[in-house]
Amino acid sequence: MSDVVARLQETREAIARAARDFGRKPDAVTLVAVSKTKPAEMIAPVLEAGQIDFGENYVQETKEKWPALCERFPKARLHMIGPLQSNKARDAVALFDVIQSLDRESLAKELAREIERAGKAPELIVQVNTGAEPQKGGVLPGEADAFLELCRSRYSLTIAGLMCIPPAEDQPSPHFALLAKIAKRNGLPILSMGMSADYEAAIQLGATHVRVGSAIFGARG
Ligand SMILES: *Cc1c(COP(=O)(O)O)cnc(C)c1O
Repeated sequence: MSDVVARLQETREAIARAARDFGRKPDAVTLVAVSKTKPAEMIAPVLEAGQIDFGENYVQETKEKWPALCERFPKARLHMIGPLQSNKARDAVALFDVIQSLDRESLAKELAREIERAGKAPELIVQVNTGAEPQKGGVLPGEADAFLELCRSRYSLTIAGLMCIPPAEDQPSPHFALLAKIAKRNGLPILSMGMSADYEAAIQLGATHVRVGSAIFGARG
């Protein structure tokens, strides 16, 4: 078994263990394997091992890497987790099953237009910048409720949940708790939070999706 597949299995087991420890069902947590910057040869064995959900950060890279993989593994589900330019909305709607980085009105508008045109809608998740970091995408926590309402009322978009990336230097748990609180008061079932270093804490606080890259695929160059 390759190192990558061994690490995939370890990660799955650790997720199931964390879920049980915190009184949750293991199948209530979806592992999104983050394969950005990793070549198709490294991803194929992970697909062969039964992994379904994958995260990518770049539209162009996804376009180059995934169509051939999706042909071999039609069950694969692709999640856009990186910053998305509005002018890439058409490609994103065509390529991705889930877009986790919806964070501004101009993008909501373009996605609504492209969903209408394509006649198919990816699942949409709004990114919240829980640490209010200027360099990071996401709506500010205090603006999340209004943005969700705008997506629903003005653009008729169905929002499935929320995503966050806590500041690297902070304890992540308060950020996860804040995201869970915003999701709860807006009736949103999906919470995408937790990465390689902190997915167990995220599961404790209700993550339904954890996005794990380096713990499976190794460090990125
Ligand atoms: C790269 C990335 C991840 C994976 O991070 P790791 O620390 O390698 O697990 C998760 N979420 C987002 C949004 C990312 O950009």
